[in-house]
Amino acid sequence: PSEDRSAPLRISVIGTGYLGATHAAAMAELGFDVIGVDTDPTKIAALERGEVPFFEPGLPELISRHVETGRLSFTTDLRAAVQASDVHFICVGTPQHPSSHAADLRFVDAATRAVAESLGHDGLIVGKSTVPVGTAARLREMVAATASPAVHAELIWNPEFLREGLAVEDTLRPDRVVIGGASPWAEERMRHVYGTAIAAGAPFVACDLPTAELVKVSANAFLATKISFINAIAGLCEKADADVSVLADAIGYDARIGRKFLNAGLGFGGGCLPKDIRALMHRAGELGAYSAVKLMQQVDEINMDQRQRVMDITLSALGGSVLNARVAVLGAAFKPDTDDVRDSPALNVAAALHLRGALVTIYDPAAGPTAKRIFPTLSYADRMDDAVRGADIVLVLTEWEEFRAADPARVGALVERRAVVDARNCLPAESWQDEGWAYWGLGRLGTA
Ligand code: NAD
Repeated sequence: PSEDRSAPLRISVIGTGYLGATHAAAMAELGFDVIGVDTDPTKIAALERGEVPFFEPGLPELISRHVETGRLSFTTDLRAAVQASDVHFICVGTPQHPSSHAADLRFVDAATRAVAESLGHDGLIVGKSTVPVGTAARLREMVAATASPAVHAELIWNPEFLREGLAVEDTLRPDRVVIGGASPWAEERMRHVYGTAIAAGAPFVACDLPTAELVKVSANAFLATKISFINAIAGLCEKADADVSVLADAIGYDARIGRKFLNAGLGFGGGCLPKDIRALMHRAGELGAYSAVKLMQQVDEINMDQRQRVMDITLSALGGSVLNARVAVLGAAFKPDTDDVRDSPALNVAAALHLRGALVTIYDPAAGPTAKRIFPTLSYADRMDDAVRGADIVLVLTEWEEFRAADPARVGALVERRAVVDARNCLPAESWQDEGWAYWGLGRLGTA
C-alpha cells in the first residue's frame, strides 16, 4: 500500500469506556495524535473537559494533560475521526447477551462497519474488545465487503489485558503485546505503536486471529479458575478445620502455582470475568469443545455459591433471621480501587439481604454513586463511621485499604454488636478478636 512512511501515525479509538478512554490517553502519552470516539455525547463532553466518568487512578490527570497539549481530542463524529487517522482501535463493549450466555456483538459489529465505511485512505482496524473466537474472521469479511476498493483496509486483533484500578500502568507497560492476523504491513505499524513497551522488554506475540482472540478469554478463564479453585478448597478447609489463608501462602510459594488470585472469599465479579467465562462456555458449546464448557460451568457455579455462603454465614451470625437487623456493608465495587459495580458480588449480597428485610447501609470509598444508580432503593453512607454506627453486624465485602486498615477498637465503639463477616479474608482476624469481635472469615481457622 502507498503511504508516506515519514508521517507520524495518527490514532482513532472507537468506544471511550474503561478500555477506550485509558487506551486513548496512554497512546497520547506515548506521543501519538489521538481522537477518541463514542456514541454517548455525555461521555464525550465530559472527556473533552478532561473529566473521566468513572474512577481510575491517574487517568483524569493523563487525559487533562493531553487534552491541553492538543494530542488528545474527543468527538462523536466517527467518520471525521477515522478520516483524520491511520490506525483505528475498536474498544466498544461486548457485554453478556440479554437472553443467553453468549457475548452481545452488536456494538463491535456496528463500530467495525462504521469504521470500514468511513475509511478515506489506507487504514488498519485493530480490534481490542474481548470477543468470542471466530468473530475477527467474520468481521474481516465484513470489512472487505464494506470498505472502498480504493483503499487498503486490514483488520487484526490485539486483545487487551489491562486491570481496572491499574489501567494506566498496564496500558503504558503491558506484560505482553498479542497481535493476531497481521500482514507484514500491519505488524510494522503495531511494532511502531507499541515501540516503547517492546523496547522495555514486553514480549511481542504475533499469531493468527483465532489464537489472539482465545489468548484473552483463556487468560480470564484461568484467573477465574484459580479463584474458584481456592474457594472450593476453602469449603474443604472449613469442614476439616484447616486454614485456607495459610494454605494459599504455602502452595503459592511454588512458582508453578503462584500466590496471586488465590484469595478465598466472595469470589469474582465485574464487567469482564463473569461475562467472559460465560461467553467462552457458550462458544465452546457451539464448537463442540465440551471439556471447556464443563470446566467453565463449574467455575461459574462455585463462584456464585460463594455469594450464598456469605449470606448463610450472615444469617447464622444473626441467629437465623436478618429481618430488621442493622447490617453495615463495607464495599460495593467488585474489587478495590474502582467504582465499577458491574456484576458486583458485594452489591449482590447487599441487595439480597435488603430483600430479606435487613436494614442495610452501604459504604464504599468510590463506588457509592455508581451503586446508587443501579440500586437506588438501598441506603448509602458517605463515611464508613456512618455506615457502621449502631450496626448489629459489619460485612466487609470489598477489600479496600480503608477497611483493612480500620481500627477494630474505634469501629467497635460505634457498633451495637461486635460481629464482623470478613468476606474477603482481608482483615487481621486476631486484632479484631482481641477487641472482642466475633469474626467470621471464609475457610479460616478460629472463626466464630
Ligand atoms: P464500556 O461499556 O465501559 O465502554 C464501551 C463504550 O463503547 C461505551 O462508552 C459505549 O458508549 C461505546 N460504544 C458502543 N457502541 C459504539 C459505537 N458503535 N461507536 C462508538 N462507541 C460505541 O466497556 P469497557 O469496560 O471499556 O470494555 C470494552 C471492551 O474491552 C469489552 O470487550 C471488554 O471485555 C474489554 N476489556 C475490558 C477491560 C476492563 O477492565 N474494563 C479489560 C480488558 C478488556
